[in-house]
Amino acid sequence: SGNAVNVTVTGAAGQIGYALLFRIASGHLLGPDTPVRLRLLEIPPALKAAEGTAMELDDCAFPLLSGIDITDDAKKAFDGTNVALLVGARPRTKGMERGDLLEANGGIFKPQGEAINAGAADDVRVLVVGNPANTNALIAQRNAPDVPAERFTAMTRLDHNRAISQVATRLRVPVTEIKKLTIWGNHSATQYPDLFHAEVGGRNAAEAVNDDAWLRDTFIPTVAKRGAAIIEARGASSAASAASAALNHIHDWVNGTPEGDWTSMAIPSDGSYGVPEGLISSFPVVCKDGRYEIVQGLEFDDFSRERIDASVTELGEERDAVQQLGLI
Ligand code: NDP
Repeated sequence: SGNAVNVTVTGAAGQIGYALLFRIASGHLLGPDTPVRLRLLEIPPALKAAEGTAMELDDCAFPLLSGIDITDDAKKAFDGTNVALLVGARPRTKGMERGDLLEANGGIFKPQGEAINAGAADDVRVLVVGNPANTNALIAQRNAPDVPAERFTAMTRLDHNRAISQVATRLRVPVTEIKKLTIWGNHSATQYPDLFHAEVGGRNAAEAVNDDAWLRDTFIPTVAKRGAAIIEARGASSAASAASAALNHIHDWVNGTPEGDWTSMAIPSDGSYGVPEGLISSFPVVCKDGRYEIVQGLEFDDFSRERIDASVTELGEERDAVQQLGLI
């Protein structure tokens, strides 16, 4: 139909893609009233698998799904796109140095940024899921100079959701009781899940936990290393939870965060909280009228400040590395 929203998914034949596409088509990305047209981007060896997924999508007869295009051409995939979910990335393989990883991903995210710049719709919103997500988002953003920088974001919502689940379990309360949680920094082992500004049933969450050792030695590492724990248990990396978080990220960006709460998104820094301008770093954000704003005025003790600084320093190093590689 003419008013369908164009949603591009890269790496569509992968694990996360398989968990993501059926939920997008059933209305969990933009809501139950918005038809979607899917654009699947894959590399040539995975096109056939993407076609298989498209056959299954057809077989669901989703009322909201108005069409599916499959391509290995980024220009076609992003032409007129309104929402771009960049999931496909080059994973780190054995013996790969960080520089090699960043370079391999530069080969993916630079042309995708250029294609978004050339053809995306004026209201395009980009979410990078493929790792290293923050720096991949930076590469895409810097290669799309005509698109407002704030449209490029990276996903820390899965970390955010994992943190909520851990605190809720610890305090034996429903997840809906936990508000104002924040993931700061990079989507990596240095990320900082902040309980000091979070609330549980209206009370300060760190005070409700009242156990500094648990917070420092259990909560933070459990959230940061949850991906490895899933691989260990499942024999494969998290996919459905990553897809679910990607839906949450775009849904809240477009439809707004609930009154009295905020969420975590990695977004280009405006210099808030001492994060160098331009770095794509995770902040507490409130979304309203299709835009996000960083929550201002939070204060930190030394413990939180040091952790945020360490993660932001890592982001700066990744930016310097991709700059040296000529990717930005
Ligand atoms: P997945 O679908 O499992 O993961 C895709 C990306 O998401 C990886 O970079 C992965 O990072 C990342 N990711 C981010 N957060 C999470 C999380 N919480 N849990 C797990 N992964 C997370 O990978 P597959 O290998 O199954 O599929 C990738 C697909 O992408 C393949 O089909 C491949 O052909 C395609 N691809 C497409 C490209 C394109 O469209 N141009 C380019 C490159 C690949 P990490 O590896 O660090 O877990």
